[in-house]
Amino acid sequence: MITVTELWTRLDTLAAPLPSERIPLFSSRGRIIAEPILAPEDQPPFNRSAIDGYLVHADQTTALVTLFGTLTPGSPPPPAAPAIGTALRILTGSALPPESAALVMQEDTRPGPTSGQIELLQLPSTRHIRPRASQARAGDRLITSGQRLTPGALALLASLGVTHPLVYRRARVAHLVTGGELVAPDAIPQPGQIRDSNSTLIAALLAEAGADLCWHRRVADSRTTTAEALADALTSPADIILISGGASVGDHDHTGSLLAEFGFNIHCDKVSSRPGKPFIAASRDGRLAFGLPGNPLAHFVCFHLFVKRVLACLAGISPTTLVRAQLGEGAAIDGNPRETWWPAYFTPNNTPGAAIVVTPLPWRDSSDLTALAVADALVRIPAGGTNELAVEVLPCR
Ligand code: AMP
Ligand code: MG
Repeated sequence: MITVTELWTRLDTLAAPLPSERIPLFSSRGRIIAEPILAPEDQPPFNRSAIDGYLVHADQTTALVTLFGTLTPGSPPPPAAPAIGTALRILTGSALPPESAALVMQEDTRPGPTSGQIELLQLPSTRHIRPRASQARAGDRLITSGQRLTPGALALLASLGVTHPLVYRRARVAHLVTGGELVAPDAIPQPGQIRDSNSTLIAALLAEAGADLCWHRRVADSRTTTAEALADALTSPADIILISGGASVGDHDHTGSLLAEFGFNIHCDKVSSRPGKPFIAASRDGRLAFGLPGNPLAHFVCFHLFVKRVLACLAGISPTTLVRAQLGEGAAIDGNPRETWWPAYFTPNNTPGAAIVVTPLPWRDSSDLTALAVADALVRIPAGGTNELAVEVLPCR
């Protein structure tokens, strides 16, 4: 049986970044940018005033100056500083002459003895000038290819005039949910039936991962119906097909054999992970298919361990890395011959320099969703269990 680490290595060779596309700036929120962004010109492109006050010559040393006009933001910069003995009223953001300018804050002045005169109570200074290129020089790299476009990054792009950034296409995912016992969340289950929670789980996880659920269907366990649904999913534009349930060796477990029948190359049908042992990874013509165990906690774990990793590769970013953390007090951890990915939550600890702490949550078995309401981490417990306090953790947020 393949280990989780071995499967990661294999998956990394199967997934390559999707093509990129130019899209309008606001639609690119949350996307991964596929090009570096260089400053097209100096930032700011001209000297600017950071205050309301008066512009005078840098060599102005006497207190009385004669006002001869006003500079407002948006007006072109005057070609030269005012002559000594004169001043321009200036407002925050106004463009300043390239040389010999100095400013006095409004608060450091008062009206002079005659109309049109201003008395400077402080020596003029350049402290409140935002010099040209003080934030970046033309050609400086301001955004790196592979960065996620946050609202702040969008604002920066807007300021640079980048209205159509080049971003990786979002991955498209199909989710085929199998199980004759399943009913929709809004249905009242009859005796023996349960509500389908995996459809909601995957839709939400994909939305958080920045991927599009482009096809979804729930089918009973008939092989023919499942085959028809899979054939239909393959006509969709999905880059990845996820099949929930039927990944094991029971009478109704058709996922592996159907994928093989449809010409998929099966890379693994089991992985040494608890929960999540029945896990099928397959590929055909650049498309990936995964058979995930139907048990909801196992579905969650397999998504985070494998599907999210592949989504990161498709999006052109590095997969989430494991972090080192201390195991806090929580549910008692038991060992297993398989490596365990134990649901847990990151525990706030505001002590400066303190280690990251994760608290293990109780779970009865792979069908137990109760931990998922608060779990934002999976703690890696080595095969056989652990007595160590220092653990590796896969963040799930
Ligand atoms: P399977 O992987 O199909 O053998 O299913 C394993 C267990 O997970 C069974 O008890 C199923 O009832 C349960 N299960 C399968 N699919 C879902 C689903 N979509 N939502 C909730 N539970 C499920
Ligand atoms: Mg089933």
